[in-house]
Amino acid sequence: MSTPVIAVDGPAGSGKSSVCRGVAERLGLRYLDTGAMYRAMTWAMLDAGVDVDDRAAVAKAASEVALVSGTDPSAPTIHVGPVDVSGPIRGDAVTGAVSAVSAVPEVRQGLVAMQRAEVAAAAAAGSGIVVEGRDITTVVLPDADLKVFITADPAVRAARRAAQDASLGKAAVDVGQTEVDIRERDAKDSSRETSPLAQASDAVVLDTTTLTLDEVIDRLCTLVDTLAE
Ligand code: C5P
Repeated sequence: MSTPVIAVDGPAGSGKSSVCRGVAERLGLRYLDTGAMYRAMTWAMLDAGVDVDDRAAVAKAASEVALVSGTDPSAPTIHVGPVDVSGPIRGDAVTGAVSAVSAVPEVRQGLVAMQRAEVAAAAAAGSGIVVEGRDITTVVLPDADLKVFITADPAVRAARRAAQDASLGKAAVDVGQTEVDIRERDAKDSSRETSPLAQASDAVVLDTTTLTLDEVIDRLCTLVDTLAE
C-alpha cells in the first residue's frame, strides 16, 4: 500500500513515539505525535497563566492557541504561534498538567480536527502517515488501514522513561517515582469521560516488554507490508 494510514495508541512510556518515528522514517511516511499537540496546548495554558483545573477557562483559552505540528519523522517540530515549544513540552510542569488539559472536550474537538486535517493533507500529497496517541485507533481514525496498541510492563516503561529523561539532561531521575507518575497519568487518561485511553477491539496488540526498539519497528513494518493495496 503506497499511502497507508497507521494509527497507534498506548500508555505513557510504552515507546510508541520512538517506534512510530522509526517506522515512518523507514517507510518514508509522515509522522504525527498527537501527545505533543496536547502538551503544546498545556504549555500555552501555563504560559498564559490559565488555571488548568478550570475547564471553562481552558476551553475558552484553547480556541485562541495557534498550534503548528511538523510531520517530518526525522525532525519533529511543534510551535505555539512563533514559539518552538519542543523542549519545554517535555518538562515536569507540562507533564504534570497535561492530563487535566486533555480531558477538556473543547480542547479535544479542536485538536482532533487538526489531526484529521493532517491525515487528509498527507493523502492529498500522496503520502501515508503514522499517527500516535491515546484515542487514534478508537476516535480519531477508527477506519485507519492498520491499528496498533503498543504496551509494556509499567516497571519497564518507567525505566525507559527515566533513561529518556536522563538523556534529556534532567537531574536526579528516580525510576520508582517515574513509575508512580506514569501509573497516575495512565489512570487519569484511562478514566476521563471524553475519549479515554482504550484498546480498540480490532487493534493489533504489541507488548514491547521484552523487545528492543528495532524488533518492535521490524514487527510493525512487517504488518504494514502485509496490508493489501
Ligand atoms: O504521548 P504523551 O505522553 O506525550 O502524551 C501526553 C498526554 O497527552 C497524555 O498523558 C494524554 O493526557 C494526552 N493525550 C491525549 N490524547 C492523545 C495523545 C495524548 O489525551 N491522542
